[in-house]
Amino acid sequence: MAEEVKEMPEGEKEIVSKNFIEQIIEKDLAEGICDTVVTRFPPEPNGYLHIGHAKSILLNYGLSQKYNGKFNMRFDDTNPTKEKIEFVESIKKDIEWLGADWEDRLYYASNYFPQMYEGAVKLIKKGKAYVSDLTADEIRAYRGTLTEPGKEDPGTARSIEENLQLFEDMKSGKFEDGSKVLRARIDMASPNMNMRDPVIYRVAHMTHHNTGDQWCIYPMYDFAHPIEDAIEGITHSICTLEFEDHRPLYDWTLIELGYKNRPEETPKQIEFAKLYLKDVVTGKRYIKKLVEDGIVDGWDDPRLVSIAALRRRGFTPESIQRFVELCGVSKANSIAEYPALEYCIREDLKMKRPRMMAVLDPVKLVIDNYPDDQTEELTVVNNLENESLGSRKVPFGKELYIEREDFMEEPPKKYFRMFPGNEVRLMHAYFVKCTGCEKDADGNITVIHCTYDPASKGGNSPDGRKVKGTIHWVSVKESVKATVRLYENIIDEEKGVYNADGSLNLNPNSLTTLTECRLEPALKEAKAFESFQFVRQGFFCADFKDSKPGEPVFNRIVSLKSSYVLPK
Ligand code: ATP
Ligand code: MG
Repeated sequence: MAEEVKEMPEGEKEIVSKNFIEQIIEKDLAEGICDTVVTRFPPEPNGYLHIGHAKSILLNYGLSQKYNGKFNMRFDDTNPTKEKIEFVESIKKDIEWLGADWEDRLYYASNYFPQMYEGAVKLIKKGKAYVSDLTADEIRAYRGTLTEPGKEDPGTARSIEENLQLFEDMKSGKFEDGSKVLRARIDMASPNMNMRDPVIYRVAHMTHHNTGDQWCIYPMYDFAHPIEDAIEGITHSICTLEFEDHRPLYDWTLIELGYKNRPEETPKQIEFAKLYLKDVVTGKRYIKKLVEDGIVDGWDDPRLVSIAALRRRGFTPESIQRFVELCGVSKANSIAEYPALEYCIREDLKMKRPRMMAVLDPVKLVIDNYPDDQTEELTVVNNLENESLGSRKVPFGKELYIEREDFMEEPPKKYFRMFPGNEVRLMHAYFVKCTGCEKDADGNITVIHCTYDPASKGGNSPDGRKVKGTIHWVSVKESVKATVRLYENIIDEEKGVYNADGSLNLNPNSLTTLTECRLEPALKEAKAFESFQFVRQGFFCADFKDSKPGEPVFNRIVSLKSSYVLPK
């Protein structure tokens, strides 16, 4: 039962083992624990989503699709301190972009405040909750340790009537923040600290982005979440590993409130390991700090791994989906590598996008024997591996730009590009032989000279002679000047992500802005988010914020070279 045959894109069949969540779901369906599968993604709107959230979104949505069920989108907005509408909007946009469709099921946990309040009253009436006067510090001190049981809260002596009245007074605003809390009465000697009379409601006079000033008491996550799941009929409530010890409280809440009878019934909490990327800032808290400290250009700075940043940089939903699948779903914490994500975007764009010529660090090349006023329109195939992308015209003339690093006056061994006396191929064009160069007073090379062989048009010579180097170029006259940004990890990997004091080890070279790049004219009208391969340089995407009509700014998504090996 744990294995299935999966159709692979190439038509090959591969045995794929089911992940442990799929196994649980299939057992529940087979045993009639549930009839359909309902999952949800419950972000707290206190920041932008990141690659780790993408894993959770695609996992929850994927399971709902696989088992013909439903996927709900729910803002877990029960803590008004850090929540903002800006985040609500960005989260919706990111999930839509990833392709997870909640149809008409967009919910807000804050809309369930009345049911949560009712639930708390019900617990009080059952003698399962009481109002406490202890301060947060006292509650901590009373809780005991792993080896010692906790002490009874004096609030446990209160009668049901008194608790009902006090809770009502908490709700109507009679108490200051922090002066009273409602605690569930469970077991002060439980080996699970979460079960030692957890706080389930607190007083907080705060304005909520959805409910305004209607409430001055707010439920705690562990109490609110199971109720939210139950109201929506969620069957499998998937969360990350750190909530494993909270599961008994999840089940306790649902059973005491009559939403289910046994822990095995639904809603059922299932924990899986978070996605972490090695040497990359993935936590929301740290991304937020980089944004707030002004180290990056907002939440969508292309160096970040927020979903908005990945989109801006030029990653596609398909590449993220592929990456998440590559990482798998497991119970054991493991660390994924950024090069795996790069591998996925390269694989996705390789066949889909045209291969263009762009010179990032230009130096002029003059073909001395080429007619002065002549311009040719060369027909260039857009992607040799994908004919359906068609072809385009590229202008060619006497004066070209080539990459500065494609010429050396005194080359080392095995340098096959331009140097005096050497013949190379100008990609898609002609063979040219280098004749020398000009320099300025400081010795910098300003112009390179060569001659061309008219018989080698198209890039091959009729006499069969070979060249070892092929370099790209753009025509000076028709080229477009553009800004291109190259990125490195924002973290200095040598030093590790965090310092002892919790601060981040930043890489001062994470952004390189090249302002003198020259592109072939077809790139002039690149639209925001449009991506291309720049031959020999990598994949690049037109920046949606900084590009202007006719003046594109490109971000490098990824270089072409990789040392990443796909795990077997
Ligand atoms: P962070 O850990 O970055 O602060 P969070 O857990 O506070 O994020 P939430 O908005 O509470 O963010 O998370 C929404 C959902 O996304 C939760 O179900 C959570 O378990 C899941 N999630 C968060 N981070 C990851 C991750 N790195 N890998 C997989 N799932 C994650
Ligand atoms: Mg959280």
